[in-house]
Amino acid sequence: MSSHRLPGHPFVAYRNSTLHIENVALDALIADHGTPLFVYSKASMLSALAAYQRGLAGRNVQICYAMKANSTLGVLQVFVQAGCGFDIVSGGELDRVLAAGGDAQKVIFSGVGKTTAEMRQALAAGIGCFNVESEAELAVLSSVAVSAGLCANVSIRVNPNVDPKTHPYISTGLKDNKFGVAHEDALRIYQYAASLEGLRVTGIDCHIGSQITDSTPYLDAMDRVLDLVDAIEASGIALQHIDFGGGLGINYHQDTPPEADMLWQQLLAKVDARGHGGKKLMIEPGRSLVGNAGVCVTEVLYLKPGEHKNFCIIDAAMNDLPRPAMYQAFHTIVPLTANPAREAPTLYDVVGPVCESGDWIGRDRKLSVHAGEYLAVLSAGAYCTSMASNYNTRGRAAEVLVDDADARLIRRRETSQDQMRQEILA
Ligand SMILES: *Cc1c(COP(=O)(O)O)cnc(C)c1O
Repeated sequence: MSSHRLPGHPFVAYRNSTLHIENVALDALIADHGTPLFVYSKASMLSALAAYQRGLAGRNVQICYAMKANSTLGVLQVFVQAGCGFDIVSGGELDRVLAAGGDAQKVIFSGVGKTTAEMRQALAAGIGCFNVESEAELAVLSSVAVSAGLCANVSIRVNPNVDPKTHPYISTGLKDNKFGVAHEDALRIYQYAASLEGLRVTGIDCHIGSQITDSTPYLDAMDRVLDLVDAIEASGIALQHIDFGGGLGINYHQDTPPEADMLWQQLLAKVDARGHGGKKLMIEPGRSLVGNAGVCVTEVLYLKPGEHKNFCIIDAAMNDLPRPAMYQAFHTIVPLTANPAREAPTLYDVVGPVCESGDWIGRDRKLSVHAGEYLAVLSAGAYCTSMASNYNTRGRAAEVLVDDADARLIRRRETSQDQMRQEILA
């Protein structure tokens, strides 16, 4: 049996010319589940997690999967079973963690716009820590906690003002974006937090961006955060943990992000050299745990030749795979069946059926395909189904979790009835 692995996707390979995830042939899933279909490799998620676990071995560490990357219950279960905590950004995400069997004490709550209802919900559930992003939020959280007769553990998200050199929409640690508090204000805001009755200051937090493929911004951010740790502790406020966020990139297309274990070796050397190696470490990886664990299988509906462009129209669209429309992101697109005897490939824009010119999935791709055949969009595990919408009244795609040779449906395809359920005829 011939086997051909795809670089950067260790659990996706052609075997006898058919694309497999682990030991499941993707074409075999189409008859049961239809397309577009998201398929995830459990082994890929666990192997990505293992790289962090190796890098942080022997440390007091809590890995909190940033579940906005992919919040499907069956995916959350993989991380619950692996002992992870969760980084949440809404009350809805907390409901999902609990529905998946997650431990509320291992939940940290990030985000600039938590409502008082979400604060009450999270306090009642007994989450581990709130990552607070402004002075105003500190005051509100304190009063919510006091009126509930509880005390909220907080860490403050500081903005280290380093450029992660990623897309501007996923860069979060620069001065002029909405996240965190400015480095120069942090000490004063920590003192304010420590004065509030309903709060217990436990840590410090930062998160500088997403799809970061260079270790330099991380190393710079760690220095900036440790400067603040020193200053805050010198002012008499003890910190128990350092939360260093997420953001590590994956290989979409010729990207070469550092390996999580190598990156953490470098970061820990800094933490140790500056005398903070005894502190608890928290991290919030999202994309790097799930991004390359998923593919989206889609059918070629029509080929439409044009004067300047040829279009390959598929049954997946921007409502299923929003990243190209949102960030001009690149996803590798490959045929489900490799056929080297085919005619020479043609250059296509691969587009979906949604009525928007922005509905493209890949531009200028060389493909040798026919209508009725299938393609796989790679790196579809992160920020795809969790960002999916019903635009054009398209139902959300079905999702399958693969574990070795076992393939399990973890989300049924959404029907029109599902979509209309909350609506009321006037
Ligand atoms: C989105 C987010 C993460 C995860 O980012 P990835 O790039 O997916 O690793 C972590 N922490 C916070 C606060 C976030 O908003």
